[in-house]
Amino acid sequence: MRKNIVAGNWKMNLDLEQGIHLFNEIQDLLKVELRGEQEVIVCSPSIHLNSLAKALNDTSKLSIGAQNCHQAENGAYTGEVSAQMIASAGAKYVIIGHSERRLYFSESSSLLAQKLDTTLKNGLLPIFCIGETLEQRNGGTYFDVIKEQISEASFHLDGSEYGKLILAYEPVWAIGTGLTASPEQAQEIHLFIRNLIVEKYGQSLAENITILYGGSCNPKNAAELFAQPDIDGGLIGGASLKARDFVDIIKALN
Ligand code: PEP
Repeated sequence: MRKNIVAGNWKMNLDLEQGIHLFNEIQDLLKVELRGEQEVIVCSPSIHLNSLAKALNDTSKLSIGAQNCHQAENGAYTGEVSAQMIASAGAKYVIIGHSERRLYFSESSSLLAQKLDTTLKNGLLPIFCIGETLEQRNGGTYFDVIKEQISEASFHLDGSEYGKLILAYEPVWAIGTGLTASPEQAQEIHLFIRNLIVEKYGQSLAENITILYGGSCNPKNAAELFAQPDIDGGLIGGASLKARDFVDIIKALN
C-alpha cells in the first residue's frame, strides 16, 4: 500500500522564531485533529532543521525535510550543505529538483541524478519534483518533458532504491500563481508517471510509489485533487505557511 503524504515547502521564508512557532502550531493542531494515517512532512530552510527536530514532541505526526542538498559527500563547496549534514540535523526527507532550483540554479537532470544518489546513500528519502512549463504545456510537449525529466534523473536507480522515492508532479505554471491543474489534468499526468514506472520497474513497485501533486493547492481545491486515484497527497508551498490552511489540506487527504 502506498503512503498518503502531505509535505509543506516553506521555501526561503520565516526566521527561526517564526519557523518554530509555525511548527508548534501545526503540531498542536494535528495532535487534536488528525484522525487518518496521513504522513506529514515539513521542509524548512536547512538552518532551521535541527531546531525543528528538537521541537518535535513524542507523539508528533510530523517529519522534517530539507529543500535541497549538494551532490558531493563533503569538501570545498563553500556555503553548501551536504546530505549527511541534513540527516544528522534530524531530517528524514529532502526535496530534489524543485522547479525553482532547476530555473534559478540551473539544476540539470544529470546533476539531479547525482543528488538522488547522495540523498539515498545518506539514508534520506527524496521528494523528487518534475513538471512542465506553461510553454511546454501549451506546445503539447509536456508528456515528453515529464518522461525525460524522470528517466534522465532517476531511472538509473535500482528497484530497491526507487521504492524509497516520493515523486511530486508540480506543473511550473501552477506554482505560486494561484492557477491549479484541474483534477483531470493532474490525474492524467500522475497516471502517465505511474505507467512509466510500471514499464521500468514493474506493476507492484509502481503501485507502491507515492506521487504528490503540487501547484497552488489550498484547502478549497485539495479534496478534489486528492480524490483522484493516482494522486497520493500534495506538496504545498504558500498554504503551508499558515497552520490552519496546511492542516485543513492534510485533513482533505483520507
Ligand atoms: C511548491 O513550491 O512546491 C508549491 C507547490 O508552491 P505553491 O503551493 O505555493 O504553488
